[in-house]
Amino acid sequence: GKLPNAEAALIARRQRLLGPAYRLFYEHPVHPVRGEGVWLYDRDGTRYLDVYNNVPVVGHCHPRVVEAIARQAARLNTHTRYLHESILDYAEALLATVPRELGHVMFTCTGSEANDLAVRVAKASTNGTAFIVTANAYHGVTDAVAALSPLLGPSNTSTLNVFTVPAPDQRLACNLGVETAFAAGVQAALDSIAAQGLKPAALMVDTIFSSDGVFADPPGFLRTAVNQVRQAGGLFIADEVQAGFGRLGDGLWGFSRHGLVPDLVTMGKPMGNGHPVAAMLARPVLLERFGMATRYFNTFGGNPVSIAAAQAVLDVIAEEGLVENARAVGLYLREALIARAEADERLGSVRGSGLFIGVDVNPASGSSGAAQAARIVNGLRERHVLISASGPAGDVLKIRPPLPFGRDEADYFLATLDDVMRTLEQ
Ligand code: PMP
Repeated sequence: GKLPNAEAALIARRQRLLGPAYRLFYEHPVHPVRGEGVWLYDRDGTRYLDVYNNVPVVGHCHPRVVEAIARQAARLNTHTRYLHESILDYAEALLATVPRELGHVMFTCTGSEANDLAVRVAKASTNGTAFIVTANAYHGVTDAVAALSPLLGPSNTSTLNVFTVPAPDQRLACNLGVETAFAAGVQAALDSIAAQGLKPAALMVDTIFSSDGVFADPPGFLRTAVNQVRQAGGLFIADEVQAGFGRLGDGLWGFSRHGLVPDLVTMGKPMGNGHPVAAMLARPVLLERFGMATRYFNTFGGNPVSIAAAQAVLDVIAEEGLVENARAVGLYLREALIARAEADERLGSVRGSGLFIGVDVNPASGSSGAAQAARIVNGLRERHVLISASGPAGDVLKIRPPLPFGRDEADYFLATLDDVMRTLEQ
């Protein structure tokens, strides 16, 4: 469709000012001016159901978070070189959500920075330089973690040795089982690392494998691979930037579904509901050498305003029962999607946990799965329902709403999807 003039002008202005590296969502970009709960509103007051954004985990502009930010911003905002109780209260609250082996928390502003710090700690504590990541992983934007993000394409970073392994994809594992198949990939990477005379530093995974295509099941499948990495002297880094804070409907963290205690855990995105706050959790012994050899100061990381936002998010998740909601509504949605996929050969496997769901879109005559997925995503957008597509081929519908998403919204989403599928070319 043709874009209205005002929008075309905004897009041209954006390109002129921001340059060529940015990408907009949708054929017809969305221009929200206000958000509330699971809804976004444009200038005309038209509302869009947000079935995609995980950052506003407790809902867009949640009043508790807004109030906490405003109150602290009006009182004091400094940094971690002064004493402040709130960072310690929050550290205690956050560490109480993870196994006791994880005893320290360090604050950053973005998930990328948290992963970058984890890379430095892993290198310092293992003397290794080799990292293992999945084939279409995304771990962030710094030079080091961009090198650990094959999704971004080839990287020229030379300080890390990066080895990729196939994602834990049930569809490829066949009769081996996901745990064995994934472990075989990791063992092959460890063998290559040793054959090149290198030492492994860590296996880093997004615990829901979002950019690889969303792989959640069966819970526990990471265990053998993690044991192998540890036996070879490497660490296990759980990247919870996407999976964390209750989205999977089973506790707060993706790693716990696997019955594992990571060596390092990173988190971000939903941590401040949109306010930039992120963190790395560590087993204390791993920070000993790092803390001796260097000091760490992140100007904005852990500032009182960010901490106020993060504390409000943790409180609201607990008080509003959002983990239980993610579990119940996620199950309801997955079952409804499975029923549709069984009845409609244009849809394939439905995967996920809680309110993190991936649905394969099959190729149709003359068009790829990715092209079909794009049609569905854009068709939903034209009907004011927002999702996206992911996976290495771009053929996986990514359904990942803010956690206050209820059954009514799930029904609204499903009805709109049905409408899109009816009008989609067979
Ligand atoms: N890890 C994962 C799994 C992510 O999805 C992202 C962001 N998409 C990051 C790390 C990087 O986080 P940030 O954009 O906050 O730097």
